[in-house]
Amino acid sequence: MLVRDAGRNEHDVTARGHPRHPDEAKRGAVADFRSDLMAGIPPAAREAMLRAAAQDPEMGSRDDPHQSRLERVVADLAGFEDALFVPTCTLANQIALRLWCRPGDAMVAAADSHVAGQEASSTAGLAGVTVRRLAGRRGHLAPEAVQAALAAPRRAEEQPTTLVWLENTHMRAGGSVAPEGWGRAIASACREAGVRLHLDGSRLWNAEAATGLSLAALATDADSLSLSLNKALGAPAGSLLLGGRAFIREALAVRATLGANWRPVGFLAAGALAAVNGRADRLQDDHRRARLLHVGLSRALGPLAGEPPDTNIVLVTTPPGMAATHAAAALQEAGLLVLPLDRATLRFVVHARIDDDAVVRAVDVTARVLNATPG
Ligand SMILES: *Cc1c(COP(=O)(O)O)cnc(C)c1O
Repeated sequence: MLVRDAGRNEHDVTARGHPRHPDEAKRGAVADFRSDLMAGIPPAAREAMLRAAAQDPEMGSRDDPHQSRLERVVADLAGFEDALFVPTCTLANQIALRLWCRPGDAMVAAADSHVAGQEASSTAGLAGVTVRRLAGRRGHLAPEAVQAALAAPRRAEEQPTTLVWLENTHMRAGGSVAPEGWGRAIASACREAGVRLHLDGSRLWNAEAATGLSLAALATDADSLSLSLNKALGAPAGSLLLGGRAFIREALAVRATLGANWRPVGFLAAGALAAVNGRADRLQDDHRRARLLHVGLSRALGPLAGEPPDTNIVLVTTPPGMAATHAAAALQEAGLLVLPLDRATLRFVVHARIDDDAVVRAVDVTARVLNATPG
């Protein structure tokens, strides 16, 4: 009810100038917390894309000046020799897997990592890599656990472990930031054991905003890094794979093998660079609103609202007897879109198109729906 009433007074842009979802006018106000992929493209990025689209494109896969600038700027920010613009972060991850592991190798990762869950079919099917799943603490591998896993004696027929995989922030743990110092300790354990270290930094921008540490400090001596550009930052599309010069040269060939030698993409790179440059104020706002959302949900739902968020994700447990899919459908009826993450968990992601008003409405609607007797 509150949602529908509020809907009549909506404007077609949010407080920060982002366009509202075109369907919102039709169905009353809809707050879309499903994913930060729904952030929309920030105005500065849209303008940069238009300007770049008016220029002559370049033919080669690394000739475009916008793409080169994006790759150079972010490689410098993150402390790597080189970077490669790729369509998705899954692809960046999978190229790294292919380069660091041979089919039949094993890698160590936290049990609920993106690479071991959503990407499992690619990890096994394309790269042929087995994941040795370790229990993480809020999604993060403790240095001692990695050390122990790498030191464990291996039976002759067991796959050799050639890679350690970290994820920061950790999506399934609710966007949790890795404890400071763990990454570096793990990197030195990897060097000692002669295995490589990859950081899935799809959400590393959120860790940067939450900690105030530089991307380079957060990349913690990893051999390679993947970064999403289209989630929190609101780039039109794309991710980056970062590493040494030779690694990126080989990554170009793997990218082509996987059918992802996309070009010319200067206009996408120009939008992405503008999104990178405008990230600071954006993400602080997202994190503040996620904390606000959590405070409101905690008041209404108690411990079901989970832990206070480090970044922009709030995970809510559904009441006993209420499946997450059922809860998500009921919330959608009331104008609130969230993602059922597993049987009893709902994911709320705060992004640029979520304003203070949407947070207030989300708390109200969620309290009403989740406190209703399950039907
Ligand atoms: C979203 C995400 C990915 C995959 O990104 P896509 O661009 O959707 O392929 C990988 N890792 C983490 C941690 C993510 O959150």
